[in-house]
Amino acid sequence: MAEHGVDVLCCSVGADLPYLTGYTAMPLERLTMLVLPAEGDARLVVPRLEVPRVEPRPGLFEVVPWDETDDPVAITARIVGSAARTVAIGDHTWARFVIDLQHALPGVRFRRGSEVTGPVRMVKDDEEVAALRRAAEAVDAIAGEMRDRPFAGRTELEVHRELVDRMIAHGHERANFAIVAAGAHAASPHHEPSPARVIREGDVVLCDFGGTRDGYCSDITRMFHVGEPDPEVTETYAVLVEAQETAVRAAVVGASCASVDAAARTVIAAAGLGDRFIHRVGHGIGTEAHEDPYLVAGNERPLAPGHAFSVEPGIYLPGRFGLRLEDIVVATAAGPRRLNTAPRDLAVVG
Ligand code: ZN
Ligand code: ZN
Ligand code: ZN
Repeated sequence: MAEHGVDVLCCSVGADLPYLTGYTAMPLERLTMLVLPAEGDARLVVPRLEVPRVEPRPGLFEVVPWDETDDPVAITARIVGSAARTVAIGDHTWARFVIDLQHALPGVRFRRGSEVTGPVRMVKDDEEVAALRRAAEAVDAIAGEMRDRPFAGRTELEVHRELVDRMIAHGHERANFAIVAAGAHAASPHHEPSPARVIREGDVVLCDFGGTRDGYCSDITRMFHVGEPDPEVTETYAVLVEAQETAVRAAVVGASCASVDAAARTVIAAAGLGDRFIHRVGHGIGTEAHEDPYLVAGNERPLAPGHAFSVEPGIYLPGRFGLRLEDIVVATAAGPRRLNTAPRDLAVVG
């Protein structure tokens, strides 16, 4: 905070609060706010009815409950104090509370909380990497199981539900998403699984799924094909595999986030498909499925040991099919380390 010239950090809903305190605020219209000054004691302003869910950590923060008729913004503003000049406020804080706090603290300059918490959260220690690996192992196992499962005759939504159930069965406390996109649907990167689309012979099926296990996220994309793929699909998939491999190899400590994106993009462009890769190559991952660092053109941040992120190039041919391949990778002094080890070939299924 001192480095960033921040006097007070305020964390409400979102991942910063549980990262710092172990407590996850409910996304309520009632305000929860950790007020953490650069100097002095931290206080957690919390609705009284939520207090039973807060595990007391007297060495970390003091609990300040508020009652239904209190004004939690006024309480928070009083704790922040009139001496504060710069407040960093959690990126996910509801706008109504940010706006009310701005009115209550007219002399204060507000900045994004992630300026302070992002650099801390994006470097994972050994315990966090181990947790990410356990989450990755679970979805790897599911990716393997799906190779023996029937796809033809089932809807996208049915396969989606199976992925969700398997994530829970494999120790995730929560499934965060499970994209299942067949044929031309796979050309839409975040396609919503359809209850009407029946998967059939000749379809590519993109499965991109992830959840939360012991507080840390998984995220994997594997491709399936119902029956033998035609040469165009096979050749396009080979380009994708090479692009992903090249980007993973580029993800060494000291390389910029942008250079990892560029490594994948160069391979896809060389195959004449540059305009079909329509998103960044990856995102950081931790207690949130998407967090810093983002592997995208323009982000010159150098990778550091402990940075954990996805490497997920895609090739999308509207009206026809789409392909994506995704693994979670950790930058280490010994080189990039993939956390996902499930086979990366285009799995032929029935
Ligand atoms: Zn995505
Ligand atoms: Zn994904
Ligand atoms: Zn991802």
